[in-house]
Amino acid sequence: MNRAPRPIASKPELLSPGGSLEKLRIAFLYGADAVYASGKDFGLRGFAHNLDTEELAEASLIAHRLAKKIYVAVNIFVRQPDLKKIPPYLEYLQELKVDALIISDPGVLLLARKYAPEIPLHLSTQANTTNSSSVEFWQGQGVRRINLARELSFREIAGIAGKSKTEIEIFVHGAMCMSYSGRCLMSAFLNPPRPPRGVNRSANSGFCTQPCRWSWGLVEEKRPGEFFPVQQDSRGAYVFNSKDLCLLEEIGALARLGIDSFKIEGRMKGPLYVASVTRAYRQAIDRCAYRGRKTEYRVETNWIEDLQKVSHRPYTKGNLFESAQTHNSNVETRISYLQSHTLAGLVRPSPDCDPMSEDPGAGGKILVEVRSRLVPGRRLEFLYPDGSSASHFLDSFEDINGNRLSEAHPNRWIRFCVDFPVFPFQAIRVSNETGPAAET
Ligand code: SF4
Repeated sequence: MNRAPRPIASKPELLSPGGSLEKLRIAFLYGADAVYASGKDFGLRGFAHNLDTEELAEASLIAHRLAKKIYVAVNIFVRQPDLKKIPPYLEYLQELKVDALIISDPGVLLLARKYAPEIPLHLSTQANTTNSSSVEFWQGQGVRRINLARELSFREIAGIAGKSKTEIEIFVHGAMCMSYSGRCLMSAFLNPPRPPRGVNRSANSGFCTQPCRWSWGLVEEKRPGEFFPVQQDSRGAYVFNSKDLCLLEEIGALARLGIDSFKIEGRMKGPLYVASVTRAYRQAIDRCAYRGRKTEYRVETNWIEDLQKVSHRPYTKGNLFESAQTHNSNVETRISYLQSHTLAGLVRPSPDCDPMSEDPGAGGKILVEVRSRLVPGRRLEFLYPDGSSASHFLDSFEDINGNRLSEAHPNRWIRFCVDFPVFPFQAIRVSNETGPAAET
């Protein structure tokens, strides 16, 4: 029997990664309602660019000028020496009026309540909240929003969301850990201590090197040093390597559960990932809310294309419909990413155009910062926030002084004409295939 879809009470927030000022701007341009970022310390992505104190201030200004939100991750599990450094940092974040602190450690929660009492608290997925009683507990501690554990099934999320008086957030897209809620010591064990933290590269301090993705073998107990290769393919075995989460198909069903925020993983990913994934989920969320209560949610081909054209591992729905104990469909047997397209460049404001204009190319040449090697003859795709793309055959280009170039390498700025409007920070992608196939 076909059941009519339940009405959606309110549109869920789209929360994208803001690993740098550039990516934060791109996330907002392509439809994020909010971004999450981290300072140089105390976030769980130590290898991401992250924002220094001035950049955090700028990020907060950018977000608020656009009437959007910024949440700052302070979600490491704090060690004793960190305790003295955290209060001034929390006070600084309160001065910036960031919209929430993302925490995992109860000790940080206590400090945040004392030193930044005006900033709402969001609980990180690392805190491993798996039931409604835990939700109630954290609510009693002053937490406004909880990102549920990634191990939960659809049925469990529905049960928790139905009872919760606090906001509920879930991850809908991005890399996953094989360990339980990221509680993992593989990286700490397998990497020697090194700066900047002076401790080993522990995932729980934000310095995971992802050894779960490495190629693994077998050693027999009585023959130490003798390595027995285990081969899933010609390159080895990747028994701990998880596929990437993708819940695009389930956005309609999840929105009906009353989830408050859909979060995209990926503070270490590049601008093309941020632009493509954000715009795909933006349209998906808008489709649920705007298409009337009787219209069924349906995934569009161009949304899927966007997710396929970023660097990713094969996708899975994670634990949504399969128990975390039977991870078969979540294990990826290759170490390499799928990457059919790459970021060709980003549109920059043209110096001879009005910097406030949304169309720096109007009536002239556009300025592009190259991010992968370009030669004449490539077909470029300019991405728009509404999900559309404009195609441009790059027959020639020049440097900023007007000299014609035969190639351009990353970080070079080039100019050329296009016959459609563009905007600053617009992402341009190009197929990794060269030759005629790339020019279709
Ligand atoms: S080693 Fe792998 S499973 Fe462990 S925390 Fe890092 S990414 Fe997650």
